[in-house]
Amino acid sequence: MTDLAEARRELALANNIVANEGVLDAFGHVSMRHPDHPGRYLLSRSRAPELVTADDLIEYDLDSRPLREPGVPQYSERVIHGEIYKARPDVNSVCHHHAPVFMPLLATRTDFVPVFALGNVGGNKPPFWDQRDEFGDTDLLVVTPAHGASLARALGGHWMVLMNRHGVTVAGKSVRECAYRAITACRNADFQVRAMVLGRPLDQFTPGEMELCFQIIARTTGLDRSWEYWSVRLAKAGGEPRPLAKKTAPKRPAAKKSKRAKRRR
Ligand SMILES: [Zn+2]
Repeated sequence: MTDLAEARRELALANNIVANEGVLDAFGHVSMRHPDHPGRYLLSRSRAPELVTADDLIEYDLDSRPLREPGVPQYSERVIHGEIYKARPDVNSVCHHHAPVFMPLLATRTDFVPVFALGNVGGNKPPFWDQRDEFGDTDLLVVTPAHGASLARALGGHWMVLMNRHGVTVAGKSVRECAYRAITACRNADFQVRAMVLGRPLDQFTPGEMELCFQIIARTTGLDRSWEYWSVRLAKAGGEPRPLAKKTAPKRPAAKKSKRAKRRR
């Protein structure tokens, strides 16, 4: 058995970190396959990732049905996570995002190309997925199991899939690897788009460099070093996770406070 409480804290922190690094905003999410039950995964209730705490996490089966009715709003796009875990036993964490730096690539259907050594986190020209191809006119949200399964098929054996007119989904063998891939791929996309503005052909990697650079995550301490760095940046930004305000505890008007309550101040 793993330390589930610690795993839940790590997943909440991943949501906070990836948001603090500008990949997630009010939308998007990071999930984790359940460390003890591979047929389940953990994902926050519907909440901005920057605010997610371990208490917000809901346990789902791979059909994205909650094990217990949570009684709170849930992410409509959670099928992205469930269908990828179903299709890819080697994936233990998924991040779906709509990072602004990727939008120029998505809008022009331009291949994601590594432009610096650490930027090769998405593999060689990761695939595009267009919801329109299979489902016609939709609101572009991935909300049915069929949508999620189609996206998982497009991901195939890759670690990143670009979603036309929508965003990006990345996978990882661990929560930290997934967060690393999401953040570093965004840095690469930013550099790539800026480089393309210069109007010259990109200086692309050789197949051998692609292979070796893709292994950097596994061969170095960069993953843990980055996690610590991003954790400190989050702390410096004052990004301590905050509990959701309770709707059932409205503030009592000051005039009606009891004498006893006033004395406690
Ligand atoms: Zn989305």
